Amino acid sequence: MLHDQKNTALSCPCGSRKSYNRCCEPAIEGSSPAKTAEQLMRSRYTAFALGMSDYIVDTTHPDYRKDLNTEILDQQNSDTTWLQLTILTVESGSEQDDYGRVSFVAEFSADGQKAQLHENSRFSRINGLWYYLDGEVKVQPF
Ligand SMILES: [Zn+2]
Repeated sequence: MLHDQKNTALSCPCGSRKSYNRCCEPAIEGSSPAKTAEQLMRSRYTAFALGMSDYIVDTTHPDYRKDLNTEILDQQNSDTTWLQLTILTVESGSEQDDYGRVSFVAEFSADGQKAQLHENSRFSRINGLWYYLDGEVKVQPF
């Protein structure tokens, strides 16, 4: 389900200040998969913000999907509004790496409550494609 695409022509939800079609869209639409762990992280945030659950599942490493599916994601995401992404640190994850870590803060509101999700995520590259593995997650209201 698509949520709120009104500003995507102007600025990408990931906060890069680039337009959506020059930022996360090529990765999400598959025309140009994410080249770095940070790009994958940004495009996954954008996919959450736009309710594109397929991309979240597809970019999660198959061994780490467990019971992740688009139905669960749509349900979780249905009353969540993603407000802002801030990338804190990036370790490896470049075009020359097969492994990377990205830590970030994502702000969201759910049930009228604003919260910050702090995550230190791990990514792995297989056959040239980056996948999300897992992350240490902390959520706190603010
Ligand atoms: Zn973006």
